[in-house]
Amino acid sequence: MTSFSIPQLVQGILSGNKRLLAKGITLIESKKSEHRQLADELLHEILPHTGSSVRVGITGVPGAGKSTFIENYGKLLLENGKKVAVLAIDPSSSINKGSILGDKTRMEELAKEVNAFIRPSPSSGFLGGVANTTFETMLLCEAAGYDYILIETVGVGQSEVLVADLTDVFLFLKVIGTGDELQGIKRGIMEMVDVVFINKVEENNLLKAKNTKTELLRALHFLPEKEKGWKVPVLLGSALNNEGLNEIYQKVNEFVNLKNANGTFLKVREQQAEKRFDYWVHEYILQKARSENSDEFYQKHKKNASSLASNPSSEAKKFVERLLGKPATE
Ligand code: GDP
Repeated sequence: MTSFSIPQLVQGILSGNKRLLAKGITLIESKKSEHRQLADELLHEILPHTGSSVRVGITGVPGAGKSTFIENYGKLLLENGKKVAVLAIDPSSSINKGSILGDKTRMEELAKEVNAFIRPSPSSGFLGGVANTTFETMLLCEAAGYDYILIETVGVGQSEVLVADLTDVFLFLKVIGTGDELQGIKRGIMEMVDVVFINKVEENNLLKAKNTKTELLRALHFLPEKEKGWKVPVLLGSALNNEGLNEIYQKVNEFVNLKNANGTFLKVREQQAEKRFDYWVHEYILQKARSENSDEFYQKHKKNASSLASNPSSEAKKFVERLLGKPATE
């Protein structure tokens, strides 16, 4: 897969070489166990150089303007002397092989910038059971010196939860007059967001936009405070016309400063790392389950479960007990 040794990859990534960064990410995304081993070596080496970026999650329905927003917000970050990496989590790709995020040329101008790195979403998504390695990809980008990591996702499925578990700031892009008002106020999303941007606000819909803002603020008011001392701001603007993006830049920084000051910035990252640990425990157990020695039992118990005559939970328990050689609930 890669003709580069781990020391070469490490050196290349630390010196900000985009080609070697991309190679490193491909290694991390590989599902082959020998690659996993190398990926872990790579991560071990670069870990001391990670952690210093601001990780921003961005969600919104398809068409909300996420790529337009990222293009212009990204350029604003560059103007402020920052390096920007853009990653995507695209839950659609594993389901229908098509991709909501990846099938059009996106962020063309940003992609050309020396200090920007854009990694399209992996060709297969994670909801189908394929490992989601966005967290590890993010670490590589940090080691390569990116100050802001923007992680984009589509407002469907569980992807927001995943993005919230990867990022420091969660930004929700909302459009007016598309009939998604209800969806936007969907408690699940609103409980996770730190900053709301109502996009595509222009002269002719300003009043409607202000009403939407009032509605959103009302909905937010009834939710428990996610971050002590932070009232989720709802900003109006236009990603296309570069309006309101400076305010977003400032709000994101304000939020990060608040989290740093009260200690939650690191605390949340520690909790996220714990979740990553659990995630990998699941992954490795599944991998072991499918390995040669146990595959026969895995298939047998799975078949029992799929027969609908047996409870999937007790079949899984029986299988794990067999795998570990002791009771699973011990
Ligand atoms: P995504 O699917 O969320 O990534 O949305 P896109 O960034 O691809 O935008 C969808 C469409 O909305 C495109 O045609 C954009 O040009 C347009 N768009 C994005 N932001 C704005 C805006 O602020 N104002 C207007 N009028 N159109 C916008």
